[in-house]
Amino acid sequence: MAFKINSSDYVEYLKAFYNLLQEEKDYITELDLATGDGDHWLNMNTGFGELLKSADQIKDMNLQDAFKKISMTLMSKVGGSSGVLYGGAYMAAAKTLDGVEYIGRDELYNIYDAMLADIMKRGKTEVGQKTMVDALAPAVEELKTKIQGQADDKELLESLAKAATEGANATKEMEALRGRASYQANKGVGHLDPGAVTMAYQIETLCNYILQK
Ligand code: ADP
Ligand code: MG
Repeated sequence: MAFKINSSDYVEYLKAFYNLLQEEKDYITELDLATGDGDHWLNMNTGFGELLKSADQIKDMNLQDAFKKISMTLMSKVGGSSGVLYGGAYMAAAKTLDGVEYIGRDELYNIYDAMLADIMKRGKTEVGQKTMVDALAPAVEELKTKIQGQADDKELLESLAKAATEGANATKEMEALRGRASYQANKGVGHLDPGAVTMAYQIETLCNYILQK
């Protein structure tokens, strides 16, 4: 049967992502120290930690209100570019959830597609500029392909996670044209983009959560 998740499931996924963040604290901090200012882990940790404080409230909301609440929390509590970009992305995703009771494959596509469009517009970012977009964009493409090909859930979710991870890995050789890495003499070449890595973590964590559910 095709997957369906609700707000309560989404909160479980947020918890799982938060747990992964705890394990990857040093790694993500080092990535942002290499190409930026070293606060990316702290920004993400603060924001997702705040979300978990509202977990009981969010899990009982309809999906649209849940995504709006997530947006407002990230927008107000997360410093740096990622706060604005994730805040905007969740608000754009919320707009696709009017009257939606469950996130299935089509709804998931609409969410990620809206997030991608919003981040690119707000950040004035294209694919290939060494940002979080480089993990999300290939994931959106892969999801579209697998939905069109009527792949089963396992194949769809595994290839979605893989596309995001490979997209993040590809940032290593990219020259940064957006974000702090673009101010560096070597444009961050040779280092992964921290925002792409945490974006891939989120996508992978959601896929794993749904697969294990
Ligand atoms: P800051 O760069 O303000 O210190 P963070 O460290 O939290 O904020 O986030 C850095 C990440 O944000 C980068 O690794 C990159 O993925 C992402 N980012 C920065 N600027 C942009 C942009 N204009 N468009 C898309 N993503 C961006
Ligand atoms: Mg930073």
